Amino acid sequence: MTAPQQGHSCPSAQPDMEGARVFGVLTGEPEAPRVGYLERALELDTALEAALAPALEGVAPTQVLRIAANCEEKRCGNFNGVRCTLADRIRAALPPVVAQLPPCAIRSTCRWYAEQGREICFRCPQITTLNVGSDDAVLREAATPPH
Ligand code: SF4
Repeated sequence: MTAPQQGHSCPSAQPDMEGARVFGVLTGEPEAPRVGYLERALELDTALEAALAPALEGVAPTQVLRIAANCEEKRCGNFNGVRCTLADRIRAALPPVVAQLPPCAIRSTCRWYAEQGREICFRCPQITTLNVGSDDAVLREAATPPH
């Protein structure tokens, strides 16, 4: 594991967060989603939101897209003052789903990668933007902040 640096990206962000950008699209089956990583991240501005709206048909962007944004650090319940505990829980609870490093446009700033290294990337393609309402008990537990 390497020490986190300043200016990290959260790879499991909400669309209204500062610096929001789309870096992946969910593919695969609903019970086994897989992220298709984009060649480059796209700023999630009003123009992109308007372009996506017809395709989303009322579905929350976080259900079909992977969105990165500026890490909010102490304003986020997953940050313990030093590191992202969500990444800790994902690495501990979920198995790898790929054997090679996925191509990823945000790796150079990704907080999870900076803290966990390649092991978190091997698990990342199964992650939708986690929330405590997930139907999957393991995902739900991994998504639940410690406080
Ligand atoms: S964990 Fe790895 S694959 Fe996932 S967003 Fe970060 S750098 Fe990309």
